[in-house]
Amino acid sequence: MDPIRHDWTRDELANLFDLPLLDLIHRAGSVHRQHFDAREVQVSTLLSIKTGACPEDCAYCPQSAHFKTGLDVERLLPLDVVRASAAQAKAAGATRFCMGAAWRSPRDKDLDAVIEMVQAVRELGLETCVTAGMLRADQAQRLQASGLDYYNHNLDTSPEYYGDIITTRTFEDRLDTLAAVRDAGMKVCCGGIVGMNEARADRVGLLHALATLPRHPESVPINLLVRVPGTPLADAPSLEPFEFVRTIAVARIAMPASVVRLSAGREGMSEELQALCFLAGANSIFYGEKLLTTDNPEAEADRRLFAKLGLVGLGAEKAGEKAGLGAGGWGEKASDCGKVADSATQECRLP
Ligand code: SF4
Repeated sequence: MDPIRHDWTRDELANLFDLPLLDLIHRAGSVHRQHFDAREVQVSTLLSIKTGACPEDCAYCPQSAHFKTGLDVERLLPLDVVRASAAQAKAAGATRFCMGAAWRSPRDKDLDAVIEMVQAVRELGLETCVTAGMLRADQAQRLQASGLDYYNHNLDTSPEYYGDIITTRTFEDRLDTLAAVRDAGMKVCCGGIVGMNEARADRVGLLHALATLPRHPESVPINLLVRVPGTPLADAPSLEPFEFVRTIAVARIAMPASVVRLSAGREGMSEELQALCFLAGANSIFYGEKLLTTDNPEAEADRRLFAKLGLVGLGAEKAGEKAGLGAGGWGEKASDCGKVADSATQECRLP
């Protein structure tokens, strides 16, 4: 088994990007299979618990108060709404419930409410993840004490390109929060966004920053920019799809034991492109019709894709059984799944 390294150089990662695509995918797929069952894909659901009016100016984000995107602003959701949404996600087969709040950093009374949500979601038997902006050390410790499993805080892009994307905080601010989360003893979910008109060197720089952290994030979401009208990146040129696959593959090779997640932007990806990403080592998706505020492939389409590719939701079988979905709720091979109605189209239909 290849060792897990934290001393990658940028040149090494750039050289991986330069490999012939099929060689790169083969290498990434081999690394993936050393650490994971390549059939298994972890399934998370994301709920926006507080939407819009964010004081930050992230150029990709429709929730920033700096841009007119027509987004409906929502205050912090009531606890019972969050609990019901988590129960629904569990019934649909998700194993982790992620809660996102559009804050620069939470006030202490905001954190009180988030902690109640974390505890309610945990009582349902789901893993929990929160993304709520920058944290002080004491705030991270409070979240850890509440039982929060993961804190999401993305590095977004390379240190060099960061100032082109966000001016209201620095790359170092991000690293400080990540250190606070680690020091508190929580798992880290941290990745970035590609397709923001960055150079390949910035994609290398992003993955280098992630792969040289003292501990790799347990979860690495790789987002493809969703170009939202009204944001500064609305007219960014689209990223060449194979370049996205390369990014996934290099992330897999550089962080072999991390879960690499296809996150925002999956809505616009063909099934074939997603399949290539799974081959290149992606092993997690967000499931649900919305990712915070942008569209995500409909749940049924995801299930059909899992069935066609013979993928299974990691740890989702029990959740499916409990919900009366049977063990095939998340992508048993179509031919093996008793609940498939149409074998000709390989469509996995749930009762
Ligand atoms: S990405 Fe997060 S911090 Fe940035 S504007 Fe959007 S909600 Fe605010």
